[in-house]
Amino acid sequence: MSEGDRLTELAKRRGFFIQTAGSYGGVAGFYTYGPEGAALKANIESAWRDRYVTREGNMEISAPTIMQEEVFEASGHLDGFDDMIIECPECGESHRADHLVEDDPDSTVEDAEALPIPDVEGLFEDHDITCPTCGWELAGEPVEEFNLMFETNIGPGSSDPGYLRPETAQGIFVEFPQLAEYARNQLPFGVAQIGRAYRNEISPRKALVRVREFTQAELEHFIDPETDEPPLWRVEDVVLPLYSAEQQDADDGGVQEITVAEAVEEGIIQSDWIAFYLGISKAYYERIGVDMDRFRYRQHLPGELAHYASDCWDAESEIDGDWIEITGFAYRGDYDLVKHEQYSGEEYSVFKQYDEPVTVEKPTVDPDMGYLGPEFGSAAGEIVTELERLAASDPDAFEGDEVTVEADGEAYTIPVEKTGFEIEEVTESGEHITPHVVEPSFGVGRMVYTVLAHAYETDEVDGEERTYLSLPPEAAPTTVGVFPLMDKDGLAERAKEVANQLREAGLEVTYDDSGAIGRRYRRQDEVGTPFCVTIDYDSLEEETVTVRERDTTAQKRLPIDELPGTLSALRDGDATFDEF
Ligand code: AMP
Repeated sequence: MSEGDRLTELAKRRGFFIQTAGSYGGVAGFYTYGPEGAALKANIESAWRDRYVTREGNMEISAPTIMQEEVFEASGHLDGFDDMIIECPECGESHRADHLVEDDPDSTVEDAEALPIPDVEGLFEDHDITCPTCGWELAGEPVEEFNLMFETNIGPGSSDPGYLRPETAQGIFVEFPQLAEYARNQLPFGVAQIGRAYRNEISPRKALVRVREFTQAELEHFIDPETDEPPLWRVEDVVLPLYSAEQQDADDGGVQEITVAEAVEEGIIQSDWIAFYLGISKAYYERIGVDMDRFRYRQHLPGELAHYASDCWDAESEIDGDWIEITGFAYRGDYDLVKHEQYSGEEYSVFKQYDEPVTVEKPTVDPDMGYLGPEFGSAAGEIVTELERLAASDPDAFEGDEVTVEADGEAYTIPVEKTGFEIEEVTESGEHITPHVVEPSFGVGRMVYTVLAHAYETDEVDGEERTYLSLPPEAAPTTVGVFPLMDKDGLAERAKEVANQLREAGLEVTYDDSGAIGRRYRRQDEVGTPFCVTIDYDSLEEETVTVRERDTTAQKRLPIDELPGTLSALRDGDATFDEF
């Protein structure tokens, strides 16, 4: 059984995730988190919030999931957020054309998404690629662009189209003018959001890995590209497993274990900001339970870069021999803010105050309207705008007797003396700058899936095979299972009291009194509960209990009144089980 299959089986049986609305046959690409999965997901999200919001001093917002068309026109998603689709004429099934090319055993193409459509069509011909559903030859079938956004209508009628956001990021970008004010116009500042995103994926696959509705945790860090530097010193010694574009191209290329400082010095990671985020994120992945032996940072190949990104790395986890992108780290430059400024007409910049006011030479024009009006008629207004623009961008153009500008597609030549061109000395206290954006974008569902796959262990206990999830205590859905040895002689009552006492201390507790104690341990092992507390007859006499640790199955006797403190310290990583 593949890792994925056994995980899906365990997930369904134990309440991590199930296909949504199974009684109605379900629809591909939609999953519901059961009680264990929802708790695991919430813990991964709160560890993320702790790391990227609280500890980094960033802000968090919560924006709607639907926005009007103009937003996605500006962001480029309406035009460019496409995947390549090929439809089988025999069975009618649609497929990701680039994935079929990559999955073909004879093909050496690793990144078909970066290829132009005719090349992909050519590969279908060259390799006789067939439909994975029915086996029909797909050579000669057209490959087309398919936009991944879900469209809807805002209000009755269809005159106001809206889209479900394909990434949470745009909800942050559109509010930039207001957010900059909240940040008192002081760069750098970061704005985070955890929320749902929607993509009408052509072929959802691998359970939570490629779905049509998923949770993202995104941080948009707004920086002044000229002056802001990340605190690289905090991560310079962190060793990163880097799979650079150069290594991907090399015949014998592979992952290099290299420190953040070395990677920056050697120019492997071009942006210091991206290097900083790769550095701090490694500790985050370890904290939530990603196995570092099955993890790497892969650089995007030049053709693979998103429409907005200049340097991009993915955090990838390995499952069943496949590498899955769990996070994208992108240097988005000023792409998004410039676009939203152009499309909305609002200013998407911050005013940067100079330390001291500076005197600068400023070319200006003051055109003679008494001349321009009669000479050029209705074009005069546009000509003035163009003269102002030209003076700012190319003052040398005013050095001769005449200057030529283009307005409404026509060229107009004007004597320079009629433009009122002058170089003035002005004192400025600051300037408007458009910040650049550094974005770590995490897929929460893919992290849940990775953490579950990497935590899955089997061993033998008392001659029986045991399955357990070796989840870090902080991430585990439940921290403590509380069991009475037997459901009689007041043991259950005392166990319920202990369970409530632990809940009051803020711990996630499951109470279980059904079946043999061994079976109860197995149930908690399978959902990754790190500690189980058993109340027995001695507990009633001595006020002590047995605490059992999941991975080692080791047991210790501890006083009941110490349990809340001890178990909280164990969950938070402030103590280890051996210490008690
Ligand atoms: P992207 O904007 O494509 O770089 O996506 C950012 C992150 O969202 C990725 O690193 C994934 O973890 C996650 N993600 C993207 N698409 C999906 C999907 N269809 N299903 C689940 N997670 C996704």
